[in-house]
Amino acid sequence: MTSHERVSDEQLAEQLSYYSRRAGEYNDWWLRRGAFDQGESENAVWFHESGVALDALAALDLGDDVLELAPGTGNWSVHLAPRATRLTLVDGSVEMLAHNPAAGQPHVRTEIADLFTWDSAERFDSVVFAFWISHVPRERLASFFARVGSWLRPGGAVFFVDDLPRAVTSPHVAGVAGQTMTRRLNSGDTATIVKNFFTAGELTGAAAAAGITMSVHETGRLFQYGATVTAAGRGAG
Ligand code: SAM
Repeated sequence: MTSHERVSDEQLAEQLSYYSRRAGEYNDWWLRRGAFDQGESENAVWFHESGVALDALAALDLGDDVLELAPGTGNWSVHLAPRATRLTLVDGSVEMLAHNPAAGQPHVRTEIADLFTWDSAERFDSVVFAFWISHVPRERLASFFARVGSWLRPGGAVFFVDDLPRAVTSPHVAGVAGQTMTRRLNSGDTATIVKNFFTAGELTGAAAAAGITMSVHETGRLFQYGATVTAAGRGAG
């Protein structure tokens, strides 16, 4: 497909199903195990750069009532749960959430829902999404940020982190075409997901249209992250 082709509902369902099938092996990617172990010096770059993004999250005032979208196995939930009075996790995969150490804590609620249709009348002090925005189809970017804006209390904070384009060289990538990427599971099965590498301008523009003022940064080679900068009373340093 070309980058101008829309992603179908069937493709979004395949993406969600892929993560459910990958749940038991997902953390190998984050922890640089198995096929993702690239040797000491490359692994050190990975952990250094992920630390840069984690430091940026630590510097942001998230308030008490935090919403995390697509939390999956909880690699970022574990940093949010100790800081929040209430943490709400919304993910479509029971299998991914089963590995999330924050799920099940007394102040943590989980909702199994499709993020392309989920909505809430509640308002949160902050909305966080890690390695999710790259899985949003380009034609849904504006409406996604509009919904994030609608879930925020006035002055609320937003933080996201995601891959830079170098991620196409990852060992589980079997091909890329337009907005999609084919991924290989340990079983050898493949699935096609959405993988977009939005520019900082595309992200700040979509956020601004939703009333969210963000700055977007790169950790070096691997990751891109964004945080609100001018929300009244809150914001990244
Ligand atoms: N945030 C976690 C992290 O940083 O490791 C997980 C990110 S993982 C790349 C993407 C997550 O999105 C998975 O947990 C998957 O279950 C979830 N997901 C995929 N499609 C979804 C959908 N349509 N609705 C809700 N969650 C979805």
